[in-house]
Amino acid sequence: MDSAHVLGERLRPFINRRRLVETALRLIEIPSPTGQGKAVADRLAEMLAADGFEVERPTGPYPEAPAVAVRWPSGRAGRTLQFNGHLDTVHLPFVPPELRDGQITGSGASDMKSGIAAAVEALRALREADALPAGSVLLTAHDLHEAPWGDGRQLDALIQQGYIGDAVLLPEPLHEPLPVKGRGSATWKVTIRRQGPPVHEVMRPLEEPSVIAAGAELVARLGKLQSELARQHDPICGAASVFIGQIHSGEIFNQYPQECWLEGTRRWLPGTDRHAVEREFRGLLDDVARDTGTSIDCRWMFIRDAFVLDPNDQFVSAFQDAGEAVSGTRLAIGPKPFVDDGNSFWANAGVPAITHGPRAGGQHTVAEWVSIDDLVRVAHLYAVTAALYCAG
Ligand SMILES: [Zn+2]
Repeated sequence: MDSAHVLGERLRPFINRRRLVETALRLIEIPSPTGQGKAVADRLAEMLAADGFEVERPTGPYPEAPAVAVRWPSGRAGRTLQFNGHLDTVHLPFVPPELRDGQITGSGASDMKSGIAAAVEALRALREADALPAGSVLLTAHDLHEAPWGDGRQLDALIQQGYIGDAVLLPEPLHEPLPVKGRGSATWKVTIRRQGPPVHEVMRPLEEPSVIAAGAELVARLGKLQSELARQHDPICGAASVFIGQIHSGEIFNQYPQECWLEGTRRWLPGTDRHAVEREFRGLLDDVARDTGTSIDCRWMFIRDAFVLDPNDQFVSAFQDAGEAVSGTRLAIGPKPFVDDGNSFWANAGVPAITHGPRAGGQHTVAEWVSIDDLVRVAHLYAVTAALYCAG
């Protein structure tokens, strides 16, 4: 047997299914919509402290909900592998945890408190099996992940303050493929206005511009931009895009409206300068405002930059070897369909990041679930990856 299989079999009996499920339930039972993550972070810190880990509580710019960090060193020089997760959930009605048919359900069961529980279980197993030959593990968990309520700034600050490993695993609910490329994204809301008051259409001053016509002009120009962007195509992560999700104007059929607003997204490929993307968009709006005689405001909300992972990085081979040892599978490489904190680790610090979590579903709905069998697999996989990667 090779070293990955030896490590895999050595660690397997140390992954404690009951303890892992209990940890997940204790995190899920505390509501933590984005921005209100203090109580669940306190619960995680208590559990880790009770396990005998030394817990730090870095706040970043958000003392309302201090993050949780544990550094667990082997005592021998080597690499640091980081397990990072977000403790916040989207703003939907709270669903308490339940155990049903081999699954855990409830708010955050899928996205991503169960994944954090698996990372904690991996850390416990590594310690109990004394299986980390060198290097260290850094566990971090934080708030302010989910947009639009959060903007990632607590994690950005943690990265800046040195809470960062040589590589990162993120247990988001994506169990295949192994994502090696992803688009960056921003959301935008554009408001088109004219100067005069709302009036009956027959009273309207003829030189006043129509905000609806200006909105239509903007839709047409964004359509043209979209066809140009569609040509910027990456074989793995698809094309850059501009998307309009909604448009609104007017109150009744014969009142001349003052305002038209539109909302949508803009996504770009790795290697694109995100500031240039924003400048181009604002430039297009300036042109429409000038050509239609309206004024146009734009709220541009940057979400995350684009993401790349080098499939030849030693971190990827450690992860794939660990996967083969744990469950006999090596993952095919593919796109990352969403943006996540792995994008921040790559874009802000150049650190390789793998998003990989349990088989789960219902994220961003009130019907979240996660497979317990697969959660056990992920805890085991994280532990073996650490043992292989940290030793170098
Ligand atoms: Zn998530």
